[in-house]
Amino acid sequence: MSGLTRRSLLGAGAAVVASAVTAPAVIGQARPRVVVVGGGPGGATVAKYVARDSAGAVSVSLVEPSANFVTCFHSNLYLGGYKTFEQITHSYEALTRKYGVNHIRQTAAFIDRDEKRVRTTDNTILSYDKLVVAPGIDLKYDSVPGWGQEHEQVMPHAWKAGPQTQLLKKRLDEVKNGGVIVMIAPPNPYRCPPGPYERASMMAHVLKATGRTNCKIFIVDPKETYSKQGLFQDGWETFYKGMVEWLGPKVHDGLKSVDPKTGTVVTGFETYKDCALVNVIPAQMAGKIARDAGLADASGFCPIDPATMKSAKDPNLFIVGDACIPGDMPKSAFSANSQAKVAAMIIRNELTGSRAFPPRYNNTCWSLIETDNAVKVGGRYEPKDGKISAAETFVSKTGETAELRKQTQEENIGWYSGITTDIFG
Ligand SMILES: Cc1cc2nc3c(=O)[nH]c(=O)nc-3n(C[C@H](O)[C@H](O)[C@H](O)COP(=O)(O)OP(=O)(O)OC[C@H]3O[C@@H](n4cnc5c(N)ncnc54)[C@H](O)[C@@H]3O)c2cc1C
Repeated sequence: MSGLTRRSLLGAGAAVVASAVTAPAVIGQARPRVVVVGGGPGGATVAKYVARDSAGAVSVSLVEPSANFVTCFHSNLYLGGYKTFEQITHSYEALTRKYGVNHIRQTAAFIDRDEKRVRTTDNTILSYDKLVVAPGIDLKYDSVPGWGQEHEQVMPHAWKAGPQTQLLKKRLDEVKNGGVIVMIAPPNPYRCPPGPYERASMMAHVLKATGRTNCKIFIVDPKETYSKQGLFQDGWETFYKGMVEWLGPKVHDGLKSVDPKTGTVVTGFETYKDCALVNVIPAQMAGKIARDAGLADASGFCPIDPATMKSAKDPNLFIVGDACIPGDMPKSAFSANSQAKVAAMIIRNELTGSRAFPPRYNNTCWSLIETDNAVKVGGRYEPKDGKISAAETFVSKTGETAELRKQTQEENIGWYSGITTDIFG
C-alpha cells in the first residue's frame, strides 16, 4: 500500500473531481487518462508527446503549480550576462492551446497507488490509467553544517531556477574587486554534473569583464574528481589565471561548517572569513512526492526499468528526469527529455496500441567557459545489465582550436532553442 487508503484519501476533505476523471468519451468509451506530475523537461515532454501523438485519444493532465517554467539549463548563461531572464522563461500555454493538455496549476500532495489517484493540495482528485512522476530534485537542507533553508537568501543555492537564480546574479554583481567567493559543490548524485564548474567559469567571466580580477573563487568540493575536469582547469588557467581554485577533499580536508551571519566557511585546511558571496549547492534527492509515494530507494532517488522508464516499484507509473536513477546518464534536461520520449512511446503503446520501438537515449552537456569557448560531453545509451548503460561516449579535448570551441557554443545555443521548442512549443 502506497500510503493512505481510498477512504482516507477521499476523507481528507476531497471535494472536487477534476477533468481527468470526467474526461470526454470517445464513442461510448472514456478516454484513457494520463496524469503527469511536474512540468519540467521530463514531465512537460511526456505530456506534450502523449497528447500530440495520440491526437485526442488520450486525456492528458499536467499537474504543475507554476504558470511558467524557468530553465536551470542556461541559467549559467544568464549569470554570465549572455541571456536575459526572459530568455530562460517558458510558458505552458502552447501545451494547452495546441495539444489539449489540461494544465492543473496545483501541487500534487498525495499519490494513492492502489486506487490510481492523485490528490492535489486543493483536494482535487485525479484518477489515472498511467501516471508519470517527474518532480525533479529536492535539496537536502541538512547536508551542509550551519546552512539550512532559512539561509538560502544569504547564501543562495540557485540550484532550482527562479528567484534564486536572480538573487545569485545580483549578489555576484555586488562583489567588490578583491572579494572572496566560495562555492560549496555537491556530492554525487546531483543534477547537472558540469553545472557547478560552468557556473564558476561564468562568475569569473563576469568579474573579469568588469575589471574585478583581484577576486578569487574557491570551489570546496566533496568529490575527488568532477565532470570535464581537465577541460575546466585548462580553461581557468587560460582565461582566468589565479581567479578560480578548485579544492578537492584531500586538499580542504572536509567542509566543517558555514556561518551565514558572518559569511564564514570553515574547512579542515582553511577558514574563509568575510566572504563576499557563498554559493551553497547542497546534496540532493528525488522530489518529495516521489519519495512519499514509496518510489525511491535508500539513495533517495527512484529506480526504473531501463527499457520503459517505468518505476521498478509500480508498473503503472513512470519516473523520468532528475528524480529517477538514470544509470550512466547524467541528471540533465537533455536526459530528462530523452527519457520522457521513451515513456511517452510506451504509454501510447499500452493505451492506444501504437507501435513501440526499442528505447534509445541520448545526452549532451555543453558548458561555456568563456565567450565563444564551449566544451561538451555526451553519449548514446541503451538498456543493458539492468540499467541505462552508455553505448558510446564523447568529450571535447584540451587544445581544440578557437574555431571548434566557437562552433561548440553555437551548437549549445541551437540545442537550447531546439529543446525548449520540443518541450514547450
Ligand atoms: C545551474 C544548472 C545548469 C544546468 N545546465 C544544464 C544544461 O546545460 N543542460 C542540461 O541538459 N541540463 C542542465 N541542467 C539540469 C537540468 O536543469 C535538470 O536536469 C532538468 O531540469 C531536470 O528536469 P526534470 O523535469 O526532471 O525536473 P525539473 O526541471 O526540476 O522540473 C520539475 C518540475 O516539477 C514540479 N513539481 C515538483 N513537485 C511537484 C508536485 N508535488 N506537484 C506538481 N509539480 C511538482 C516543479 O515545480 C518543477 O517545475 C542544469 C541544472 C542547473 C542547476
